[in-house]
Amino acid sequence: MGKCDKCGVEFETLCPLCTIPILTDLERKVLILIARGLNSIEIASEVNYSVSTVKKTRRSLSKKLLSKDIGPNTVARAYDLGILAH
Ligand SMILES: [Zn+2]
Repeated sequence: MGKCDKCGVEFETLCPLCTIPILTDLERKVLILIARGLNSIEIASEVNYSVSTVKKTRRSLSKKLLSKDIGPNTVARAYDLGILAH
């Protein structure tokens, strides 16, 4: 269960109201740090997880957001979907 970043309602994996994926707390944190331009090593030390966990999280974010990469396009998709606000 997580909260939709747009409407704030709790859903399992996808908000049917906004049709956007629900991120886990870690995915959301990692996404914000990718948007700030941090690399996986810097993100790992920021969130206190291993680099491999961060990389796994980046891949799952990319998959959920239908992104072409685990970096810039993931961030662009998050803005497009309204998960990240400008
Ligand atoms: Zn929603």
